[in-house]
Amino acid sequence: MKKNYLLTPGPTPLPPQVCEALGRPIIHHRTPQFQALLKEASEGLKYVYQTKQDVFILASSGTGVMEAAAVNLLSPQDTVITVQGGKFGERWTEICSAYGINTEIINVEWGKAVEPKAIKERLKANPKIKAVFTTLCETSTGVASDIKAIGEVVKDTEAVLVVDAISGLGAIDLQTDAWFCDVVICGSQKGLMLPPGLGFISVSSKAWELIENSKCPKYYFDLKEAKKALDKTDTPFTPAITLIIALCEALKMMKQDGLANIFLRHRKMAEATRKAVKALGLELFAPTAASDVVTAVCVPKDLDGEKLVKVMRDTYAVTIAGGQSELKGKVFRIAHMGFIEEFDIIAGISCLEKVLSQMGYDFVLGAGVKAAEEEFLKNT
Ligand SMILES: *Cc1c(COP(=O)(O)O)cnc(C)c1O
Repeated sequence: MKKNYLLTPGPTPLPPQVCEALGRPIIHHRTPQFQALLKEASEGLKYVYQTKQDVFILASSGTGVMEAAAVNLLSPQDTVITVQGGKFGERWTEICSAYGINTEIINVEWGKAVEPKAIKERLKANPKIKAVFTTLCETSTGVASDIKAIGEVVKDTEAVLVVDAISGLGAIDLQTDAWFCDVVICGSQKGLMLPPGLGFISVSSKAWELIENSKCPKYYFDLKEAKKALDKTDTPFTPAITLIIALCEALKMMKQDGLANIFLRHRKMAEATRKAVKALGLELFAPTAASDVVTAVCVPKDLDGEKLVKVMRDTYAVTIAGGQSELKGKVFRIAHMGFIEEFDIIAGISCLEKVLSQMGYDFVLGAGVKAAEEEFLKNT
């Protein structure tokens, strides 16, 4: 028998309150009972999103809601900017291309954050650009973008700003309204402490204007239908009832903690993780733009990075993530978002040390745990 530690950037561990809600008997969705829950969930999401706009709840993984954003805002042959500094930025380009939308790609070196200036210049060069697709936390590299600065750049143009905040929302600050984010997308299985299966999307009035004129094909993900339904506290199709009940519990917890405390907790865990791996002589993959959501660490030369992740998981039941695409085998990623706490990080670092030691990596045993503990002590 082994106790599992889940330190992956989605899914993340579930709090007991959420697990309990997931085990409740199903109820029917066209009832006052469910309507009250849908209302509670929608209001709670506005708190987490820091918005007064509607936030729609769709039954889908995060990527489905990314697709919903593209097909609702745009028409084939429209031109948009996509910011590509990792696997999830690339996904924006792939989704747009699938619908015949032209993409002007801003390529960013993996591990670096996009310069808002680069977006500004592209927008200036082509005033026909309809949307700018960005990522709050590029989960494949651990990099956080300066969405506030990007919002300042996009707000005075015709384009709308679309933010993939799937892994960052509810972990690091994202002020949807104050930062002029027109469309913000999230998924349930990362900072929001739920199983996968729900996607969320906020829509500004500037974005609704585009939606009115969009000609991309859509049916299930038609946001106009979603709005008609939500105005009556309803959904166009059968919602993921149980997940929405669990969402209410997760949102209750987040409201009780307060966003400021939640962000501070993520900051502490990230800082402790960064200090710990550095104390082990390891290098951060994104030293200049590291997010407080997930930390990507370079695998030292001569070490098998995939084996490291595999042994931690299969032998000790501590699951971290490896690298994706071009970073496969080159980095490992430790998540510190959602229902992950101080002592989960300590356990993760401890296991990392154990396996590094077994693999013959040269370091002072305990140095990582010590550095993490010192960081946590500093902040209490
Ligand atoms: C996880 C993630 C996605 C993909 O979400 P799915 O729920 O797997 O579809 C997209 N973007 C970012 C930044 C993510 O972290």
